[in-house]
Amino acid sequence: MLKFVNKIILSKNDRLLKKYRSTVQQINLLEESLKSSDDAILQAKKSQFKERLARGEPLNNLLVEAFAVVREVARRALDMRHFDVQLMGGIGLHQGIISEMRTGEGKTLVATLPAYLNALTGRSVHIVTVNDYLARRDAEWMGEIYHKLGLSVGVIVSGQDSEQRSAAYQADVTYGTNNEFGFDYLRDNMVFLPEQRVQRGHYFAIVDEVDSILIDEARTPLIISGPSEVSSDIYYKLDKLVRRLKVSTTEGDDGDYTVDEKTRQAFLTERGHQLMENALAKAGLLQANESLYDLGNINLLHHVGAALRAHSLFKKNVDYIVRQNKVLIVDEFTGRVMEGRRWSDGLHQAVEAKENVHVEQENQTFASITFQNYFRLYEKLSGMTGTAETEANEFQDIYGLGVVVIPTHQPMIREDQADLVYISKEEKFEAIIEDVRSSAQSGQPLLIGTASIAMSEHLSKLLSKVNIKHQVLNAKNHRAESKIIAQAGIPGSVTIATNMAGRGTDIVLGGALESNAAHSDAARADWQKRHQQVLEAGGLRIIGTERHESRRVDNQLRGRSGRQGDPGSSQFYLSLEDDLMRIFASDKVQAIMERLGMKGGEVIEHPWVSRAIENAQRKVEAHNFDIRKNLLEYDNVANEQRQIIYRQRKELMESDTIQDSILEIISEVNETIVERYVPEGQLDEQWDLAGLEQTLKQEFDLQVPLQKWVDETPDLSATALREKVDNLVHAAYKEKENNIGAPQLRTVEAILMLRVLDYHWKEHLASMDHLRHGIGLRSFAQKNPKQEYKREAFKMFGSMLDTIRHDLVSNLMKLRESPMMLADQSSKFSEQEKKMNYQHQEIESSLHAPEADSPSPPVPQPSPVPAKPQPIKRQHAKIGRNDPCFCGSGKKYKHCHGKA
Ligand code: ADP
Ligand code: MG
Repeated sequence: MLKFVNKIILSKNDRLLKKYRSTVQQINLLEESLKSSDDAILQAKKSQFKERLARGEPLNNLLVEAFAVVREVARRALDMRHFDVQLMGGIGLHQGIISEMRTGEGKTLVATLPAYLNALTGRSVHIVTVNDYLARRDAEWMGEIYHKLGLSVGVIVSGQDSEQRSAAYQADVTYGTNNEFGFDYLRDNMVFLPEQRVQRGHYFAIVDEVDSILIDEARTPLIISGPSEVSSDIYYKLDKLVRRLKVSTTEGDDGDYTVDEKTRQAFLTERGHQLMENALAKAGLLQANESLYDLGNINLLHHVGAALRAHSLFKKNVDYIVRQNKVLIVDEFTGRVMEGRRWSDGLHQAVEAKENVHVEQENQTFASITFQNYFRLYEKLSGMTGTAETEANEFQDIYGLGVVVIPTHQPMIREDQADLVYISKEEKFEAIIEDVRSSAQSGQPLLIGTASIAMSEHLSKLLSKVNIKHQVLNAKNHRAESKIIAQAGIPGSVTIATNMAGRGTDIVLGGALESNAAHSDAARADWQKRHQQVLEAGGLRIIGTERHESRRVDNQLRGRSGRQGDPGSSQFYLSLEDDLMRIFASDKVQAIMERLGMKGGEVIEHPWVSRAIENAQRKVEAHNFDIRKNLLEYDNVANEQRQIIYRQRKELMESDTIQDSILEIISEVNETIVERYVPEGQLDEQWDLAGLEQTLKQEFDLQVPLQKWVDETPDLSATALREKVDNLVHAAYKEKENNIGAPQLRTVEAILMLRVLDYHWKEHLASMDHLRHGIGLRSFAQKNPKQEYKREAFKMFGSMLDTIRHDLVSNLMKLRESPMMLADQSSKFSEQEKKMNYQHQEIESSLHAPEADSPSPPVPQPSPVPAKPQPIKRQHAKIGRNDPCFCGSGKKYKHCHGKA
């Protein structure tokens, strides 16, 4: 069966290759005539191609000519003429699939073909590398070709400022790492002005070492975080201030704030407001000439509200308990403590301050994305690597990427020896050292791969003990490393490396010929002698000290040898004590050993063992795929929301006509509020006019004589009343515009909108985090945690949008006279940017137990078995539509989580 499937896959590959070969023939036909064209003519091709595109010719039509031009230019610029197989690889990339090409096949050069062709559209071409060193190297190296072609090249590396980045993205072709591209995308969606963005779209990406980036690195998301804008100090300070305030008991009482138990809201009265402003100014939280209602103080106002609510509405041992210096929410319907849940919008912190426990000042997430979702932004995605085929399913499933296996330029003659399995690690290492000693003595260079840095160091100690000279690499300093690895082909040299170390750097037999020495005859002759010596000794020898958890990474290690038809060999040494064997294969292998009648001190080399090991690797691969899929499924929920918010932000920044939307939003918010107190279809005796009057005063700063209206027009309908209020609100807003000035108000609207959006979006991200962490802990008898997460996240998003609208209107209506113009927006962003952390958690291996202090994985693995059987309970079944929502928002359930 497997063979049959293989045959289909193979023949599909063959079909692709056949097509590619015929295209290559057409490219070859153009070679002679281009050879006689001078440089200027080749450079002018760019504008000719562009004109043809402008006239509507499809890009694919230009492929043959464009590739031929790139090949000719590369020959002139670098003395490298693309081999036919390299042209084939380039066609694959242009078609948006993965070209699997072995190490040493010259993938760096391959990328120039589709990069040139696609850059002709004038849109951004991104080439993604695994580290900064390679980004720089490739941009510089291939830059000679691009310049001769008339294209500009940019590089983004860590540590650059936004001007340098922006310049790099303006170039036709931009090189950089996956992290840099991803972070720039997130950052671009946090700026306040369009000109602060650095990227120009996501058109075409070529991902080098694509398996490493889209698979190995895709187990954790990119996160930009920073200190939450409020320091924990503020919560304690506000708590002290709020304690001094007096609650109003009845209408007309001159207390400092009013409490509405029904909607779980608390508001400052005019008097309380005065008092609070003075106190805040004294405490240094407010400038003397500022008002709490000023635009710049949204967050402060928000926290004052939270502190008021914490004091007046949330009761210890009813709504929450304090345990071990922590405030834990009590589910008001079941009385059960809700572990890991926190109220959002600063309420939890306010309660913590009230209880005088530690205020948890989380490092707030500003933005985050998985590589899966970042790379899916590209209209066209492609990749290249020596090892893609084992992961073809995942590439297809997650990224929609096919794989084409490109044949090597020269036949591969490396000898891959069958695994040797020892009983103990000790015996294994003895054998390895013996191999190293004898191979090195014969003049063969050796590259020894390990699965971890610790193992590299261990082996290094052992080699030192027996006086074998060697180098150790461990993927920390890419540039230094690449220098060492470039010399790993010197006769008799021994290099120890973790699997990723030095990836991307070529190992030349005899050692790299230093470029300054390349032209001296003596140096050349010297190198030739070394080269010959290594050829005769059998080429580069690869030694694997254990099996990696993924077959792909083992293949990657082997692939360092035998490039471009070089001789070479590879040998893996294993022991039953290796992690992989211990955890996944020990029973099987032990049984096999017994059947073969083996004892300690012996070594086995048998196809059964190899199969058992391969199966173990498949198991771990599948497990890791699950982790990535799980992360992705959670991120997909966030992704939809992220896209909506980012789109909205972009529109806000770019358009100068948000005025209409603002007026609409005012009406919407107004409608929701009026409907709450004066519901349609109810008898007017049940209208809560006083309540509405109070709310309109508090939230819109509007005095509306509702009772008078009703007295004057006894048959006033709810709809008519709502319209009257709406007119009044709009009139008030118009008046504000007259006072402040229309252009000023437009600026304020745009800025305010962005701020309110950002504020609540960040809060929402935190709530989503809490939800995700809590969802594994909560018992959803018979329920799928991902489904639950999706459902709740959707509701939370809806309620966030409501809150944004509401906050926006409330803030606009409270603007007093001319607001202090907001500090220069660009400087505000740079200030924030300085404090941002860019994180991408590295995962070494799921085999090696995590260190005690290592951070927990970002996504909790929902346990397959519920911890304890729980009685089936309907979620929030007992909440009435008019009851306060369980989330603590203070809004009625029907306007909050019950809205969907
Ligand atoms: P890969 O990324 O596929 O492992 P590289 O791009 O690092 O390979 O290239 C390996 C080596 O092959 C480089 O030293 C490069 O100079 C050389 N090379 C690639 N293509 C050609 C070519 N067409 N002609 C001559 N040398 C080439
Ligand atoms: Mg490479």
